[in-house]
Amino acid sequence: MQHSSKLQNVRYELRGPILQAAKTMEAEGHRLLKMNLGDTAPFGLEAPESVVVDMIHHLRGAQGYSDSKGIFTARTAISQYYQTKGLMTIGVEDIFLGNGVSELISMTLQAFMENDDEVLIPAPDYPLWTAAVTLTGGKPVHYLCDESQQWWPDMADVEAKITERTRAIVIINPNNPTGAVYPRHILEQFAELARRHDLVLFSDEIYEKIRYEDAVHIHTAAVADDVCVLTFSGLSKAYRMPGYRAGWVAITGPRVATAEYREALELLASLRLCANVPAQHAIQTCLGGYQSIEELIRPGGRLREQRDLAWRLLTAIPGVSCVPAAGAMYLFPRLDPEIYPIESDEQFVMDLLQEQKILVSHGTAFNWPVPDHFRFVILPAVEDIEEAVRRIASFLAAYRHRAVTPQPIG
Ligand code: PLP
Repeated sequence: MQHSSKLQNVRYELRGPILQAAKTMEAEGHRLLKMNLGDTAPFGLEAPESVVVDMIHHLRGAQGYSDSKGIFTARTAISQYYQTKGLMTIGVEDIFLGNGVSELISMTLQAFMENDDEVLIPAPDYPLWTAAVTLTGGKPVHYLCDESQQWWPDMADVEAKITERTRAIVIINPNNPTGAVYPRHILEQFAELARRHDLVLFSDEIYEKIRYEDAVHIHTAAVADDVCVLTFSGLSKAYRMPGYRAGWVAITGPRVATAEYREALELLASLRLCANVPAQHAIQTCLGGYQSIEELIRPGGRLREQRDLAWRLLTAIPGVSCVPAAGAMYLFPRLDPEIYPIESDEQFVMDLLQEQKILVSHGTAFNWPVPDHFRFVILPAVEDIEEAVRRIASFLAAYRHRAVTPQPIG
């Protein structure tokens, strides 16, 4: 069978040839250090016990299809959660539940896009956004985030890339892969651009509760109540249950302007019947109860310690610099091109895998335009981070040596 031409330009390198090579190595019996995927479970970061017990309690009653927008109690809990954050306008009917944010990204774009519509997406990005826009027949246009400014979006670049075909801007805050958390003035500028050019804001806030030090998360919708905003979040990260597949999207902005779009989204939601029902029952317990994520991110907490250690060890390697993550679960270090003249970062990561048996993700997989970054996940335990950075340091030392030693010709 031949695949659809719609897939021609769809890339998702995080699960591409490097992961295939890693699987082959594992099948051959090699033990790999995996610092590549943002999955909490393999690192012993488990879902809160009370939430799992609650889901088990509801399991028998969760056999049937639910309302295609999601069960009422979960949507009420989400609406109340946003109300406690000052977003008073989000009601139960403004919320759609899905099988993770991933499904909702595809669904909300499908209901929105026409062929050749342009969507502004951050570079670097979480590449599902670029892939999902491409799949709808739209055109992803990347705006730059500025490493010298804590990886905040370069607002002049955002504005310069708006054309008459631009329909929406994607904001990922806190950001994967950079760990940036955006201040109010950046979000206000996005709102202003949306107002001026009649754009919709897609705000992916899946890491909203994972922040370090004094970083504060502000919902885009909170600074843009007169703009159409889609706010995405879910249980995968802060509640450590990505496999259960529970996420949501909340629609805010002028009701008249969004009425037709909501109907289209309801149609798409009913075409897939409903999201995974047992996981929907976890939402109320998660949002209402004790927030165990706080223990992990405060000083001395596991994620905070791992983030501090990884940053300290990586930046001690000559030619490696890194903006400390203010949120999320990743670092996005830069390899100084003067010291590491990398032509293909994909090959670089493949060589690192094969020589040192450690798996990271190359920066261009996140649509970063230059082959000089990689993403390092901070989820593994301290000993694994130490070992991983030791191997990266040793690989980079050999790379530096090769770069300055003339290679024999032929
Ligand atoms: N959005 C971002 C920015 C992510 O990093 C991820 C997963 O890594 C997702 C969405 C997917 O979340 P979910 O598990 O809810 O589909």
